[in-house]
Amino acid sequence: MNQVLKSTDVLIIGAGPAGLFAALHCSNRNVMVLEKNATPGKKLLISGTGRCNLTHDCRLSDFFDHYGENHRFLKNALHAFTNRDLIDFFNTNGLDTITDKNGKVFPASQKAEDVLKVLLASCNRNNIEIKYNQAVQKVEKTADGFKVETTSSIFTSKTVVITTGGMSYAATGSTGDGYLLAKQLGHSIVPPKPSLSPVFIRDYLMGALSGVSVQDKVLYLYRSNTKIGEHKGDIGFTHKGLSGPGILDFSRHILGNDTLKVNFIGLNPEEFREELIRLVEKEGKVALQTYLKKFELPRSLVMHILESQLILPETRLAEITKSQRTQLVDAFCRFPFVVEKVGGFNMAMVTAGGVSLGEVNHGTMESRLVPGLYFAGEVLDIDGDTGGYNLQAAFSTGFLVAKSLSGSSDL
Ligand SMILES: Cc1cc2nc3c(=O)[nH]c(=O)nc-3n(C[C@H](O)[C@H](O)[C@H](O)COP(=O)(O)OP(=O)(O)OC[C@H]3O[C@@H](n4cnc5c(N)ncnc54)[C@H](O)[C@@H]3O)c2cc1C
Repeated sequence: MNQVLKSTDVLIIGAGPAGLFAALHCSNRNVMVLEKNATPGKKLLISGTGRCNLTHDCRLSDFFDHYGENHRFLKNALHAFTNRDLIDFFNTNGLDTITDKNGKVFPASQKAEDVLKVLLASCNRNNIEIKYNQAVQKVEKTADGFKVETTSSIFTSKTVVITTGGMSYAATGSTGDGYLLAKQLGHSIVPPKPSLSPVFIRDYLMGALSGVSVQDKVLYLYRSNTKIGEHKGDIGFTHKGLSGPGILDFSRHILGNDTLKVNFIGLNPEEFREELIRLVEKEGKVALQTYLKKFELPRSLVMHILESQLILPETRLAEITKSQRTQLVDAFCRFPFVVEKVGGFNMAMVTAGGVSLGEVNHGTMESRLVPGLYFAGEVLDIDGDTGGYNLQAAFSTGFLVAKSLSGSSDL
């Protein structure tokens, strides 16, 4: 039979970045964290392929372009605890950081475990109790707070913070439990969808290019022959489709059967067509493969595209026929990839969807439906681009919860 173990002021469900950050900033409170795994921060440890891209070094105003349509919800949280505050937090706690040429901020040691160590040491200093192997199954509102049931125990608390993450990479512990708990308390959930995920391409013929990537290319998204979106970024070829930051960031908008058209050369179709015509007189003897070098594409990609069009690389510019010119324009300015599917939750870095934002006060992170209930991190219906934006959102919303609780009359 489950036993009441302990009453507390603040009970945080989930020891990921959002939960730990909320906990360690709740100073002078009686705080307990319940974690279903035997260890904390499993997803944090694999973030940035183990290097942990913890935030982005850019102006705060530039952050808001990186959270899709729901970015306004994060305004208060990101102002309450900025990217600069986060870097300062880690630096003053003994963790040096470095910024790469794209603005991604990492621990100087390039080890995600060092980020987790700082969070745990801070929790320890603030006497935060973390209880492991406590999978929360039920949260109930009571007259003076909440009753929280795990597989083995019952806890009571004046306030509850749900920081259970999304539902991607389930082996890390993020299995969507937070959505069920929020539903139990009357919240609605925007259907979860994999985001920051690679795409699988139908009848894909570029498997041999796996590992090859191209930088800063424009992607057009078509659904039922209508253009519905556009994005620019780096693209990587995989065994079965496309990945890389440009694809991952765009993936929240992509569905199976959509067509992605890639402009590999940065010229619009008419510019490219006219250039091919213009060069016939001046540089007619130049081989096509030589001319194409100016676009600085990987040679293997250029060869693949020409082969797919049955056009010989040695063809001189003056020998290109009208129909070949049309083929080249289509292949280099709008190469079509028909999407088989977007990678599932087992390969998505984050979850789009989650606790509906209209039901959460963005100035405090408190539920608008249940006083004393708070949310932070990926469990909310907000997801960011690659580049450190998701961890910053988890840290900032976690911080805002703690700040709100400091001034809360519930305690
Ligand atoms: C492969 C990969 C790489 C990534 N790299 C980056 C990166 O470099 N930069 C970046 O910004 N973002 C990155 N992300 C995303 C980022 O890691 C997440 O957005 C972030 O961890 C979310 O933090 P969170 O605290 O909200 O949730 P999580 O980190 O998912 O933590 C939730 C915690 O709650 C626990 N929990 C769940 N259910 C229960 C329950 N019922 N009872 C008790 N505990 C429960 C889980 O076990 C887990 O410990 C990456 C994600 C993946 C998968």
